[in-house]
Amino acid sequence: MASSARDWIEKIRGLETDRPVRILNVCGGHERTLAAAGIRSLMPPNIRLIAGPGCPVCVCPEEDLYQLIRWAVAGEAIVVAFGDMLRVPVNAPKSEARSLEEAKAAGADVVAAASPRDAVEVARRNPDRPVIFHAVGFETTLAPISAAIVEGLPENLFLLMSGRLTWPIVAQLLASDDVNLEGLVAPGHVATIMGATEWAFVPQEHGVPAAVAGFTAESLLEAIYTVASRAIDGAADLSNCYSLAVRDDGNALARQMMQECFEVTDANWRGIGVIPNSGFELKEKYAAHDARRRFPVLETDRKRAGQMPAGCDCARVVMGRIAPNECVLYGAACTPRSPVGPCMVSDEGACRIWWSSGIRE
Ligand code: SF4
Repeated sequence: MASSARDWIEKIRGLETDRPVRILNVCGGHERTLAAAGIRSLMPPNIRLIAGPGCPVCVCPEEDLYQLIRWAVAGEAIVVAFGDMLRVPVNAPKSEARSLEEAKAAGADVVAAASPRDAVEVARRNPDRPVIFHAVGFETTLAPISAAIVEGLPENLFLLMSGRLTWPIVAQLLASDDVNLEGLVAPGHVATIMGATEWAFVPQEHGVPAAVAGFTAESLLEAIYTVASRAIDGAADLSNCYSLAVRDDGNALARQMMQECFEVTDANWRGIGVIPNSGFELKEKYAAHDARRRFPVLETDRKRAGQMPAGCDCARVVMGRIAPNECVLYGAACTPRSPVGPCMVSDEGACRIWWSSGIRE
């Protein structure tokens, strides 16, 4: 019989260690389960669960979003974006729209989408107008975007590529000295596409145990127990605690479609900088659908560009350097009702997840 959440918590509490075991997760879905179930409060003092870079909206370059807003306001195109992106603020003078939501309120054509199919539909319904779809997300989102491309995009549909791969930022974190990590809970959704073995570099190259986890409390607790016990034993290997959905080699068809459509390139992460081989761009054969080539760069004078909003510590939250409630603006100037930074806007942002789970201080 499968172990219950209570069983796993007992097992984790039974682990003996006199040194901290810091375990990183890199998935907004994982963080939501951890926060909603209050799992951190059930951990023994030496097992620390760290929220990491699990939010693609949070790391989307500010410049990309700013361009989208400018294109929408200038009437260059109908802009289609995932709902989360609409409220993300950018640095801009008060006289300008500072988010897609504000641009929409000012009369720009901005449409919220739940999937790339929605963007295809908008383009088909408006054949006489260009439509820009903001292709932002991690591998799980880029896979269906590649499927839409392979099926054939309407001529008037253009993509602004802001997609990112997850493993390079984890590799950067593991190589850095300022966040010491003893274990990784690897993202189950990403692994369904890319395969569990994509995370084999964590034990092999960094000597850190890793376990792919699903989204139930039981699956996450199993992964936490697995990596914590390995770390305490001084062992490092890769486990798959989500074998129901994750195969070693992932989804071959999805990966094939992504390879067909995208080049992997160095890419900028908001507040973090350029990470080698961490972004998706359209391959040359799809250049006719590349929004960056089709539309002019629109820029106005602005004091800050590219960074997080003033006072926002999202970049350090994303990198696991501080917990959301260590940001001085958390719950004060920054709440889901009036978010300062992207981590409080997105459903996958750690600040919003913590606040929505009732963590107030
Ligand atoms: Fe940024 Fe708000 Fe999170 Fe602080 S609480 S890091 S201001 S999103």
